[in-house]
Amino acid sequence: MKMIALLPEVQTFIDTRQGLRIGGEPFDSKHSLTVLNPSTGQPLTEVARAGSAEVDAAVASASNAFHNGSWGRMMPHDRSRILWRLADLIEERAAIFGQLDALDNGKPFAVARDVDAIWSARHFRYFAGWPDKIEGATIPVSTPDRLNYTKIEPLGVCGLITPWNYPLLMASWKLAPALAAGNTIVLKPSEETPLSALYLADLALEAGIPAGVLNVVSGYGYDAGAALAAHSGVAKIGFTGSTKTGREIVMASAGNLKKLSLELGGKAANIIFADADLGRAIPGAFWANFGNNGQSCTAGSRLYVHTDVYDQVLDGLIGLAEGISVGPGLEDANHDLGPVISEKQMNMILGHIEKAQKEDAQVLAGGARLRGDGWFIPPTIIGEVRDDMTIAREEVFGPVLSILKFDKDADVLARANASVYGLAAGFWSQDVTRVRRFTDGLEAGTVWVNCWGETDAASPFGGVKHSGYGREMGKDAIALYSQTKSVWVG
Ligand code: NAD
Repeated sequence: MKMIALLPEVQTFIDTRQGLRIGGEPFDSKHSLTVLNPSTGQPLTEVARAGSAEVDAAVASASNAFHNGSWGRMMPHDRSRILWRLADLIEERAAIFGQLDALDNGKPFAVARDVDAIWSARHFRYFAGWPDKIEGATIPVSTPDRLNYTKIEPLGVCGLITPWNYPLLMASWKLAPALAAGNTIVLKPSEETPLSALYLADLALEAGIPAGVLNVVSGYGYDAGAALAAHSGVAKIGFTGSTKTGREIVMASAGNLKKLSLELGGKAANIIFADADLGRAIPGAFWANFGNNGQSCTAGSRLYVHTDVYDQVLDGLIGLAEGISVGPGLEDANHDLGPVISEKQMNMILGHIEKAQKEDAQVLAGGARLRGDGWFIPPTIIGEVRDDMTIAREEVFGPVLSILKFDKDADVLARANASVYGLAAGFWSQDVTRVRRFTDGLEAGTVWVNCWGETDAASPFGGVKHSGYGREMGKDAIALYSQTKSVWVG
């Protein structure tokens, strides 16, 4: 196995015990977090681990930067330039970010560099354009001799809590609008993948973001995450993660009535109608689920296929699954997919596959662990799935695709919507009337038609039902990180 050589910056970064980033300085802690390499199952490095005392220090630093620092008061034009500069730095160092995310997440290096890092840079660039466009209004009130206008102001200290599936990108999705709106930040990355967030904090300083504006606390969810969610000095939590954790954050936030935005789990329905262009629908449906190894909240993991094209679609999907190469993210072999994130996640995924078989579904491709060392599962396709089976209802968050048959449009719409989740949905059809009916009828924050997985910094993204609330991206994201003040002048 030939590995891609680590860049000197990356080697030094993982050879050095990384501290938290508080007040613009590395900040060591008594406890450590061991970061594992999912491609080998072995420890990769140790970083400082925050508990509630370190979270207190980070919130104090962010609070001081908000109340006494220059960030929120800076001319919008200057805040824009700094965010643009940060975008440029992320792009320049995309290979470093790519290696860091490939190491602790396991995803292929080329994907981590060209997708996660480059899209993060684009995200910062889009929001760099916002600071001088966050404007209020003058209101035509019916009170004589009074001027009434609104100001859009930042919230204060924002706690951002992110998952492991797109470590840099999920942090960027939240950081860029929160910073553009003038807030200060305590970011808690996933305990599985803290490296790129710690490195990003250094780059933010280099770009000119003042010390204390972006603080990073690596640590566990039950410990550092819970302390942040409950902290009385935090005005808002922006969270991406599981629905279970989302509920815990709602409860923890009650003390000071924090604002929340929650991007949670999903179990997206993807529908292939008989009139679909199968040349696009089959690979489209394959990657809708297996992109990022199925570890995507928008994974199209419930694939409904019309009976007329069922056999053809199944053959196509199995052929694609058999041609996929799975291996370490930093192996010099251009693998399509890496390992799943952890041993616990691997066992959970294998448990789902086993349960599906017990409930009479059939494994048609993949289904078993691949190699002895890392946590590898090949693309797994499960046929004969019924809506009541566990595999069709619960989020697997791994490379497992369930195939379900349907005959009638009305039935499949009801079946697609019969989920507690509602993050994304999609379908493949050439029929304009159906496009209208299904884009209206599907209960999801995003609906893709004849495509899948597109997101853009300018286009709102978020869920309905148990997939959460709030819309990231675009002007909606600025609204998530700001509040309106009404001013009356006599
Ligand atoms: P998770 O909920 O276990 O963890 C997410 C983050 O929350 C981590 O940083 C974790 O440390 C922290 N956390 C855990 N318990 C906490 C607590 N009690 N208080 C505060 N923070 C806590 O999720 P995960 O396993 O990292 O990610 C997978 C989940 O994320 C899946 O359900 C997936 O669908 C969801 N996800 C959603 C989106 C979206 O945009 N909707 C995007 C990516 C992932």
